[in-house]
Amino acid sequence: MLEASGLTYIAYILAALLFILALAGLSKQETAKFGCYSGMVGMVIALLATFSKISAGAIGITIVAMLIGAAVGLYVARKVAMTQMPELIACLHSFVGLAAVLVGYNTYIELGVMPEDMIAEMQLNGELGIHLVEIFLGVFIGAVTFTGSIIAYGKLNGTYKLAIFKSAPLMIPFCHWVNLAAIVVSFLLMLVFVGGGAEASAFPLVLMTIIALAFGVNLVVAIGGADMPVVISMLNSYSGWAAVASGFMLDNDLLIVTGALVGSSGAILSYIMCEAMNRSFISVIAGGFGNAPTNTEEKDYGEYRELKCNEVAELLKNSSSVIIAPGYGMAVAQAQNAVATLTEKLQARGITVRFAIHPVAGRLPGHMNVLLAEAKVPYDIVLEMDEINDDFENTDVVLVIGANDTVNPAAAEDPTSPIAGMPVLEVWKAKNVVVFKRSMNPGYAGVQNPLFYKENSAMCFGDAKKTVEEIVADI
Ligand code: NDP
Repeated sequence: MLEASGLTYIAYILAALLFILALAGLSKQETAKFGCYSGMVGMVIALLATFSKISAGAIGITIVAMLIGAAVGLYVARKVAMTQMPELIACLHSFVGLAAVLVGYNTYIELGVMPEDMIAEMQLNGELGIHLVEIFLGVFIGAVTFTGSIIAYGKLNGTYKLAIFKSAPLMIPFCHWVNLAAIVVSFLLMLVFVGGGAEASAFPLVLMTIIALAFGVNLVVAIGGADMPVVISMLNSYSGWAAVASGFMLDNDLLIVTGALVGSSGAILSYIMCEAMNRSFISVIAGGFGNAPTNTEEKDYGEYRELKCNEVAELLKNSSSVIIAPGYGMAVAQAQNAVATLTEKLQARGITVRFAIHPVAGRLPGHMNVLLAEAKVPYDIVLEMDEINDDFENTDVVLVIGANDTVNPAAAEDPTSPIAGMPVLEVWKAKNVVVFKRSMNPGYAGVQNPLFYKENSAMCFGDAKKTVEEIVADI
């Protein structure tokens, strides 16, 4: 017969495998549901295995905490709009960071009340030093993740007036030197803390926590606009490493494995995002270090043209190929079903319709794919930027539905633009471009868009759902 601890380990391995299957499943739309179920089953197994390791009293307290958490979680999940998901994720990352800080302090306090002979034994076999390093690093990573995620939450929400929550980067003077100093001072404080051994004082730990909280703020406020997707995946990665640190402190192998999965997948995603946006990974994670100064002055691009819905309908009827480039505005307007109906109507007339998806369109990786899948748009006409960018010049009409930064020619044409170098959908190469939005306001990066003023471009103003529905009716 296997001992209880043996069973727990088998359960942990099973849960870890299910988490890996969850990640693999979530990487494709077709298998995403399977991925979600694998993750849920893995989590139930992980919880049961953890319960088997703790006392009945602790199980009771945990269940009460879980019920409260589940009630809040269910309420928030039902209430949150799809467009608010990135903020919610940033908010959840901040909780992981805060949890790591609290676990760190709790572990430190526990050390203080441990029997002296146990401490002496830990000191003798070198475990004490390692444990103190775990506490220090856990609190550091947790504190950076906590405040960094709060700033990211504000920046994504976009309704707060404070400068630190604006989408534009906020650089304090010598901000990179301040960041470097924060790391060096924290390292020195770690030496003091760990050097204290059994008598480790709380002072270096508390001082480092304050520094790390400020460091998290400074790191994220300096990153702005179009680089925010990388920040989200980077904070996702940090939250994973914070969980790893908690796993070490709590001596929980599954938490270490799970945290490492989150940490490394977040890091890989950040890298992929940086590649897709032609940004330096190091520069973004170091709070915009090495970025060339940019020009944000307003330019006069001349006049823009406007088309009414019936005119857009006429243009579409006379075309043979159409590409739809959706963006964040389609999510805000919840226009995906209207867009799917428009696609069917055009296809019924023998017009080729395809979708062009920019890797950072919307506010979440895969945001547009999720919306289009929800509206039952067939996967085979939904193409990634690299697959479709060369086809715009042979296209009659491009409909830009609520996209802005991801179709901004300034990225390709103006080296002083804040989004210079970011690959964009080259929609302006098509014969006609119609931009669906409500005003001439810039997109998330706050950069003017010369596309609107090009000769072959026209604006179709209004809420995207309403305008697309009107066009469907006209067709
Ligand atoms: P943008 O955010 O650049 O622009 C969206 C446009 O939609 C706006 O110009 C807005 O114009 C328009 N809009 C808003 N509501 C409506 C509506 N109801 N009807 C019609 N139009 C509407 O969108 P993109 O998708 O092109 O770019 C995404 C941006 O977000 C990039 O800068 C990206 O870096 C950033 N980002 C992406 C993340 C990701 O993971 N994908 C995460 C964080 C940030 P108006 O107000 O005039 O209507």
